[in-house]
Amino acid sequence: MLRSLAQTDSQVEKILKKETIRQQDTLTLIPSENYPSRAVREAEGSILIDKYAEGYPGKRHYRGCQFVDELEELAIERAKKLFKGEHVNVQPHSGTQANIAVYQALLNPGDTILSLNLSHGGHLSHGNKATLPHTHYRIIHYGVNRDSEMLDYEEIRRIAKEHYPQLIVVGASAYPRTIDFAPWREIADEVEAYLLADVAHIIGLIVAGLHPDPVPYADVVTTTTQKTLRGPRGGVIICQKEYASLIDKAIFPGTQGGPFMHTIAAKAICFKEAAEPQFKEYQAQVISNARELAKTLMEEGFRLVSKGTDNHLLLIDLSSKDITGKEASTILEEAGIVTNRNSIPFDTKPASITSGIRPGTPALTTRGMKEPEMKLIGEWISKILHNPKQGNIRKKIREKVKELCEKFPIYVNSS
Ligand SMILES: *Cc1c(COP(=O)(O)O)cnc(C)c1O
Repeated sequence: MLRSLAQTDSQVEKILKKETIRQQDTLTLIPSENYPSRAVREAEGSILIDKYAEGYPGKRHYRGCQFVDELEELAIERAKKLFKGEHVNVQPHSGTQANIAVYQALLNPGDTILSLNLSHGGHLSHGNKATLPHTHYRIIHYGVNRDSEMLDYEEIRRIAKEHYPQLIVVGASAYPRTIDFAPWREIADEVEAYLLADVAHIIGLIVAGLHPDPVPYADVVTTTTQKTLRGPRGGVIICQKEYASLIDKAIFPGTQGGPFMHTIAAKAICFKEAAEPQFKEYQAQVISNARELAKTLMEEGFRLVSKGTDNHLLLIDLSSKDITGKEASTILEEAGIVTNRNSIPFDTKPASITSGIRPGTPALTTRGMKEPEMKLIGEWISKILHNPKQGNIRKKIREKVKELCEKFPIYVNSS
């Protein structure tokens, strides 16, 4: 029992070592990834991993829960303060689980959900064909406006009035612009629908006061903790008091079993960290870095969806270049620049190919990188994507990427 990982399983240990080196030596521009603090990682690997605690503080199905009760109450108190919410559930294992529980809490099978089209920046868990919500509910999508590539409230109102959904979902995985939640509340009220705001990507900006807050407007808010919030992998549900019991029952026993108490400890830590002044500075830098990267790429001749960014990510439209999103992300990785391919609005290519990539700045900002590094990285991306047939360019940039990574170690600036 006391043998280390290296002594117990050299195969897994070797893979972890390789992954550590990969993370250290490459630039992560995937906007949903981040490097949480050492404290968060310690909690994830702590003794709490062995504790069963089905139920909620004071109402557990198992004995021996006095300290995990204290812990979950602490996490809830911190979350309520941080998110300014009336009720918080910290048990969802992920953002997807949080959304499924909200549907389970508020809807009946066959009810209608109105949400953002996946190919316009929505998330799978908002009712994509391949998912469980799609088999249980009627899914209607809205998209972004063809010209502005932004949310078009008149069009969304029109679709809402045509279908009278029971639930409207506002929130995105690939939307580079600010979302104003007040008009969503109005539209939801006009058709008497519940309003769910899924702010998985932008929650860090919201708690730092750098993006409008959905909590005063939405009936329920869901988020992840691993993206801009820089915590453990997991989900959170914030709701008005009147839905508290429905939401809690929909998580347990509705859609989950025992909570991950080690992750709840890590969530409590990340809520504390997110309330500190340095977190606000970090989020402001995330946004400045995204702006600088956007500016550089536009100067280099790339078209960005919606012509820029207000938040932590950008969507590059490659359709006028001689390269697909899939090819672009593949050759960028050869140079140590890790991104993901992404559909752009009205994409003519399938999701497995796409015409876009979606770089974001949260992870690089945690490493301590600022505007000068963003400019450099933007120029490297340009050079690589404008010369896809020249492998030697990628090789040269790969060396420069390594040098830059050495100056900004992972898991130093975040702890
Ligand atoms: C990432 C994301 C989720 C889901 O998160 P998981 O933790 O991966 O399940 C849900 N909604 C949106 C908008 C997201 O971007």
